[in-house]
Amino acid sequence: MMDQKLFANRVQSEVASRLQGLFPQMPYDDAITFTAGSPAENLFPKAAMQQAYLDAIAAEGAHTFQYHTVQGPVELRERLADRAMKRHQIQDIDADNVMLTAGGQQGIDLVAKLMLNRGDAIVVEAPTYVGALSAFDMYEPTYYEVPLEADGMAVDQLEDLLKQHPEIKLIYTVADFHNPGGVTMSLAKRRRLVELANQYNVMILEDTPYRDLRYVGESLPTIKSFDTEGRVIFLSSFSKILMPTLRTGWLVADQSILTQLYKLKEANDLEVPNITASAINQFMAKNDLDVHIAGLTSEYAVRQQAMVQAIKDELPDGVTATAPEGGFFTWLTLPETIDTTALLYDICTPQAHIAYVPSKNFYAYKNHSNGMRLNFTGLTPEQIQDGMHRLGTVLTAAMTV
Ligand code: PMP
Repeated sequence: MMDQKLFANRVQSEVASRLQGLFPQMPYDDAITFTAGSPAENLFPKAAMQQAYLDAIAAEGAHTFQYHTVQGPVELRERLADRAMKRHQIQDIDADNVMLTAGGQQGIDLVAKLMLNRGDAIVVEAPTYVGALSAFDMYEPTYYEVPLEADGMAVDQLEDLLKQHPEIKLIYTVADFHNPGGVTMSLAKRRRLVELANQYNVMILEDTPYRDLRYVGESLPTIKSFDTEGRVIFLSSFSKILMPTLRTGWLVADQSILTQLYKLKEANDLEVPNITASAINQFMAKNDLDVHIAGLTSEYAVRQQAMVQAIKDELPDGVTATAPEGGFFTWLTLPETIDTTALLYDICTPQAHIAYVPSKNFYAYKNHSNGMRLNFTGLTPEQIQDGMHRLGTVLTAAMTV
């Protein structure tokens, strides 16, 4: 048995396994789980992607399978630069401003590795993406949490923090269809965030895997689009708009930042798998990605509507829900007397056969117990209605005790 003390401090801390045990076992035929963060499998473009891999191999022959460069295919980076300019209002960039990563997750990890010495200060939303916390944890930072409001991060509180803690280096934010919060940052707050970053000399990591999945309302400009000093690193991913297994995401940033990040990526995994990057390039050449995304949003919009309706119909007074305009999740806040972790394991899972992700997982210091994240994209409208009816029954009973 390995002496655990020989392991580094970064895996000793109690928070080192934030993702394990996130999804409870549900061995019941009538189980309904609101836990998933996965896209709907029936919407994967299976045939087109299979063809894209064949096209990549046909185009490059044996060279497809060779080592390539840390940057990956320039054609794909050109397409992404083009997309960033057209869909995300990021000006004056080209392929050299785009870096391919092993999913958005590696983008978060590499940016953390670029910026954080042990104990360095970072701002995260409360709640925030649990996978970002698990990536950041490895660099043993000091977290400062800023509450998430209906229109995004509480920027006045952010400013107070930046004033009090000039050592803060990085702000991590999910501005579009927050995971887990479901909310979207307002235009005014996006502008203000960049102003604050300039004023207090911090960087922003804008994580946008759900940005293209809008079901109602108009798209807002990215935070990156207001960046005049190269302080915003924009991050996106193919996981939610194509398939998670591609393990392909991308960063848009100034070249001086990417030069450093490439050093770190080389140390980490040398390069993206060429066959996958080439297949995505072929997919984008032969298919209109926006048409595919429109197919996703029309299906997900029905599920989002079902969730909004079920929240109205099934949940007792005293429970508040966010109103997501896109993405995968909604967030419930319950009275403070209710501990959603206990409720999940004591009642929801064994008795009602429903599951969600309890709030404490989404807080840096796990100190928030009366919220929950509900996914609505992985279930049919009927399942959403049924599951929310069961949840409403459980909550009504728990709140009248
Ligand atoms: N950021 C956010 C906010 C996410 O929700 C996810 C996936 N759930 C990721 C990053 C990472 O996704 P991937 O590595 O598959 O791109």
